[in-house]
Amino acid sequence: MSQVSQRVKMDKLIDSEKAKELRGLIEESERIVLTCHVRPDGDAIGSTLGLWHLLRTMGKDACVVVPDKAPASLSFLPGFKEIAVYTCHASFCTKTVEEADLIICCDFNTPSRQDSLAPLIQGAHCRKVLVDHHQEPDCFADLMISYPDMSSTCELVFRLIAAMGLYGDVSLDCATCLLAGIITDTRNFTVNCKHYDLYEILMRLLEKGVDKERIVKEALNTRSYNSLKLEAYALSEKLETFPAHKCALITLSKEELDRFHYERGDSEGLVNRPLEVKGMVYSIFMREDPDCVKVSARSCNNFPVSEICKDLYGGGGHLQAAGGEFYGTLEDCRRLLIDSFDKYDVYLTKGNNQHRK
Ligand code: 5GP
Ligand code: MN
Repeated sequence: MSQVSQRVKMDKLIDSEKAKELRGLIEESERIVLTCHVRPDGDAIGSTLGLWHLLRTMGKDACVVVPDKAPASLSFLPGFKEIAVYTCHASFCTKTVEEADLIICCDFNTPSRQDSLAPLIQGAHCRKVLVDHHQEPDCFADLMISYPDMSSTCELVFRLIAAMGLYGDVSLDCATCLLAGIITDTRNFTVNCKHYDLYEILMRLLEKGVDKERIVKEALNTRSYNSLKLEAYALSEKLETFPAHKCALITLSKEELDRFHYERGDSEGLVNRPLEVKGMVYSIFMREDPDCVKVSARSCNNFPVSEICKDLYGGGGHLQAAGGEFYGTLEDCRRLLIDSFDKYDVYLTKGNNQHRK
């Protein structure tokens, strides 16, 4: 198929003026930094590394700078070892960001999602571009490319590449990273696939030779023994259900995490499991981290867990996948949710389409 017909097919959701502007910015920049949110996930790493491969193919001096370490489950991604981690190499990251002539911010909608890296990125004098799929972004970049309807930032990046006429520059490595982000954010095409032509994107990426089964195995279905035991413990001992509110809750204290030698990424996916219980509409997971209680939320039926995370835990995200942070004890965090159930019952009402898209 010719590049022109691929363009016609894949770029139809993208504002062509924005794609043109982004291409212009890339062409006139030599040193480009790609960055994402703290506790990066498959979509954050997939989108930054995917663009990194694209830019290198185009002959640019590009660097991925992330706030903190990415989980080991993503280490199979090509280029992973080249990622500069701010909490590990602050001076290298500072120099790289200060020397950049373009920064592309991927998969986050507000500077605070970058934690300690935020002042460096916000203080940089070069132009900035936002490429993201979260709701209600802060206007902190010169070029805002925000599409909350997309399954993932990687879906958006692929469409942007097509709209910029750069599909020919997508290497196998670039395609692998982009598909990893789509697969992790959609849990292998089971949630958030709003656009039917997402499957056409899958086809285009497979055409590049991507090993989809390997991505699913490495990014979704591989874990440590301790992580599996932690999940088993959480489900058998810590799962609370509140049938009247169609809510399931799991809390894990620092002591419990220590007991299972918790490492970053070990509780990935746990929050989804209670939604397997018939009748459950939303699931909340609270983990006692060293600095705060990290809250993760998932839902079905378009129940807006992003509202709960925004109202109660200073966070946000998507309607059906959101998160936040609580500064206080784990029990206070749990109590706050339980005391607020009544307020959110309105969204359970059958036929309530207020949040349907
Ligand atoms: P997860 O539960 O996998 O950590 O995050 C689910 C979704 O919620 C992601 O889209 C993520 O960007 C968003 N999210 C997670 N934690 C926070 C947070 O602390 N603040 C905001 N604004 N969004 C979050
Ligand atoms: Mn994402």
